[in-house]
Amino acid sequence: MRLRNVPGSREFIAANEFVVQEPESYKGRWHELFGNNNPIHIEVGMGKGQFITTLAKQNPDINYIGIEKYSSVLIRAIEKRSQVECSNLYFIRFDAESINDIFDTEEVDRIYLNFSDPWPKDRHAKRRLTSKEFLARYDKFLKKDGYIAFKTDNRPLFDFSLEQAPEAGWTLRDVTFDLHHSEYNEGNVMTEYEERFSSMGNPIHRLVAYR
Ligand code: SAM
Repeated sequence: MRLRNVPGSREFIAANEFVVQEPESYKGRWHELFGNNNPIHIEVGMGKGQFITTLAKQNPDINYIGIEKYSSVLIRAIEKRSQVECSNLYFIRFDAESINDIFDTEEVDRIYLNFSDPWPKDRHAKRRLTSKEFLARYDKFLKKDGYIAFKTDNRPLFDFSLEQAPEAGWTLRDVTFDLHHSEYNEGNVMTEYEERFSSMGNPIHRLVAYR
C-alpha cells in the first residue's frame, strides 16, 4: 500500500484543512474540533480512505477520524475527501503505536481496522493492529459499550486476532469467515483492499470485539 516518495506529500499534508496537524493537542477534546458531542468513530490504518469517507457521507451525525501512518498514502485519502461536502471527517498522519497520546479515556465510540498489515514474522506480532498490545491501547480510550470491527482476507492474521482478543479480555461476536455471504453483509462498506481481494475470489473475514 505504501507509495514511497511522493514528492511534496509532507508539505501538502502540512497545509491541508482536512488533516489535524497536532493531534496530541486534541486529546480529551476532540468534540471541540467537530463542534458537537456526536459519537466518534475512528479507522486505524485507513489507507486511501474510501471506507471512512463513504461512512462519513452516509452518517452525518457521527464524527470520523481516519489515521494513516504514511503521507504518500494519506494524500490519496485527502484527494477523495476534497470531493466530498461534509464537516464530520478529519484525518491524522500518525503511527498508531502512540495512539494513547491522542485519545483520552472513553473518548472513542468505535474502532475500525480494515485489512491491517499482517506482519507475518512472529517477532513482529506486536506490530499487528489486533495484537494484545494494541488491544490494551484501545482499551484505554474506547467507550465501555464501544467495539472494534475488524475485516481482513488474511486467514493467519484473522486466526491470530481470534486468539488475541479473548487473551486480552475482549469478547468476540458476529464472527464470519465469509462476510459477503453472511448475514452481517447488509450495509457493508467496502475498502479499497476489500474490493481488490474479493474480486480475486478471496473470502473476507470479519469479527467484532468488545469488553
Ligand atoms: N484500510 C485500507 C483498506 O482496507 O483498503 C488500507 C489497508 S493497507 C493494507 C494498511 C494500511 O494501514 C496502510 O496504509 C498502512 O500504512 C497503514 N498502517 C499500518 N500500520 C499503521 C500504524 N501503526 N499506524 C497507522 N497506520 C498504519
